[in-house]
Amino acid sequence: MTARTIDGKTIAKEVRSKIKKEVHKIKDKIGLAVILVGDNPASKLYVNMKQKACKEVGMDSYKYEFQKNISEEEVLSIIKTLNKDKKIHGILVQLPVPDHIDEKKIIHAINPDKDVDCFHTENVGEMFIEPDYEKILPATPKGVIKLIESTGIDIKGKNAVVVGRSNIVGKPVGMLLLQKHATVTYCHSRTKNLKEHTKYADILIAAVGRHELIKADMVKKGAVVIDVGINKVGAKVVGDVDFNKVKKVAAYITPVPFGVGPMTIAMLLENTLIAYKRQNS
Ligand code: NAD
Repeated sequence: MTARTIDGKTIAKEVRSKIKKEVHKIKDKIGLAVILVGDNPASKLYVNMKQKACKEVGMDSYKYEFQKNISEEEVLSIIKTLNKDKKIHGILVQLPVPDHIDEKKIIHAINPDKDVDCFHTENVGEMFIEPDYEKILPATPKGVIKLIESTGIDIKGKNAVVVGRSNIVGKPVGMLLLQKHATVTYCHSRTKNLKEHTKYADILIAAVGRHELIKADMVKKGAVVIDVGINKVGAKVVGDVDFNKVKKVAAYITPVPFGVGPMTIAMLLENTLIAYKRQNS
């Protein structure tokens, strides 16, 4: 068996072109504010990609870039201003922020209606009670669900194993799969014998950040494998899954790059459009 590669790049392009059409019908300019603190090269790269994507669909993006020694109060004050700014419909703070800034305080300063990352407890709470695809949902997890659904497989009743339990990826992915009636198992750094769990996964999500953590003998034949991981090996970007070997066992697999990554950005744009509508309904 050779798995079919789920082409996240093309699927994301289709999503972006749908968003672009909708944006063009709206008279107002939709604005996304991106706050970047410090000089983390990966963060800078992600921010640039998000800005480029905004431009492509006809949204305005505003970058607020600060030195890493900016005080927490100053960042909070900028967020307060952006919360009231009528031309800004979405606000995101590129994480991580430097240690002297309390990430939780920053996230909770954002108006939940403008919280396009879906990190605010109000939005997280709503998602945990009842995920609604018409509302803001966390970008990467929502993208993962769309990639799984693109295969045409029915999530209902499937064994889904999520490796990783972060608030940004692992936990919410599991919640979205649960809502789609999968039987969800979470695995993490303290899980004993990871393979015992992953072997039974009809849907396997790897969201750890460890190159080749998921090997072919850990994957069920015919599984859908979604690789969220981003790791640098030399000059190459790779995922958490041993792609070439797992490809021979799985039915569907996402590549890294061009799998989950482009979907995350497309879902961020979708969230910004949803946020605009929410503020103008
Ligand atoms: P994180 O560091 O917050 O969480 C990692 C998780 O992996 C933890 O829950 C931990 O318990 C678990 N873990 C660590 N070692 C493990 C092991 N040996 N076995 C099983 N579980 C283990 O990371 P995150 O923010 O959730 O991101 C995970 C990965 O996904 C990273 O590589 C990140 O760069 C990537 N990521 C990609 C996208 C994208 O758009 N493609 C978006 C967000 C994150």
